[in-house]
Amino acid sequence: GRILLTGASGFIAAHCLAAFLEKGHFVRFTVRSQLKADQILDAKENEKYRGQLEAVIVPDIAADDAYKDALDDTLDGVIHTASPFHMNFTDPQELLGPAMRGTDGLLKAIANLAPNVKRVVITSSFAAMIDPSKGNWPGHTYAEEDWNPVTMEQALTGDKITTYRASKTFAEREAWNFVRQEKTPKVEFDLVTLCPPMVYGPIVNAQTLSSLNTSNERMWKFLNGEVKQIEPMSNPLWVDVRDLAAAHLAAYEIPAAGGNRFFIVADEFYSNQDIADAFRKARSPFSQWRPTAD
Ligand code: NDP
Repeated sequence: GRILLTGASGFIAAHCLAAFLEKGHFVRFTVRSQLKADQILDAKENEKYRGQLEAVIVPDIAADDAYKDALDDTLDGVIHTASPFHMNFTDPQELLGPAMRGTDGLLKAIANLAPNVKRVVITSSFAAMIDPSKGNWPGHTYAEEDWNPVTMEQALTGDKITTYRASKTFAEREAWNFVRQEKTPKVEFDLVTLCPPMVYGPIVNAQTLSSLNTSNERMWKFLNGEVKQIEPMSNPLWVDVRDLAAAHLAAYEIPAAGGNRFFIVADEFYSNQDIADAFRKARSPFSQWRPTAD
């Protein structure tokens, strides 16, 4: 098929891009600058896929008409991964705006500009499912009905994690509301959302250690000494980024996936201590350690 992938410079999106290209799909991707577009277009691993790749620059997904050059009637699917996942903000709107308007605006733009899109897959998060007041919630089995009960007031006044989780919760909720309410002839697509917990794995796009995405940055802080004390885990769930990419591909390709919200997790727990132990076991001298592709 022919898909639009948003936020292709991201940690998770890089693996989604590889999975879709390898399967033979055509991928038009969005990034925020020509530099980032060129890095992907010129990457060695993408050499054999040149004819399947097209870049569109979308500097800010929260802007009005952000997606006007990205969508048209040649596309049959959209994979939306772009959303801010970082804690470098002062105003909560810096997260809430791109997460919410970036998603809602995209769905409206698809309805208006891309009539042949049949499936939209959104990278949501376990952040949109978790109820932080329940802790690890022994005995509870998470299901589609689990929604983070965070309110807008908490999003605006709470700590940064609360704001981030709220941004994912509100964005996903609005997406479901959109496909439910706008069931007019205009909305021809259905929706799949994927809710992964912490995502780890090989890094494809990061150019420097200071530009690591948030989940990998946490690991790096164990190694570089910024985290002096291994904190107890708030939750022990994770998933490998390659499995999550495969889940994005399946969510697009499998017709029966439509209308579902999937919790995507590894079938094992982890702890911060496991990460520290793995680093110790690797025994690579700190000064020579570099993030590599594998
Ligand atoms: P990254 O930070 O690597 O990717 C985020 C992507 O979104 C980047 O391409 C970034 O562009 C883009 N982006 C952010 N804000 C804007 C904006 N205002 N306008 C345009 N583009 C924007 O993080 P991940 O790959 O980890 O995250 C991808 C998705 O997965 C997010 O939706 C995140 O919430 C979700 N997720 C991640 C988890 C994890 O552990 N990593 C866990 C659960 C969900 P740029 O690089 O140019 O800033």
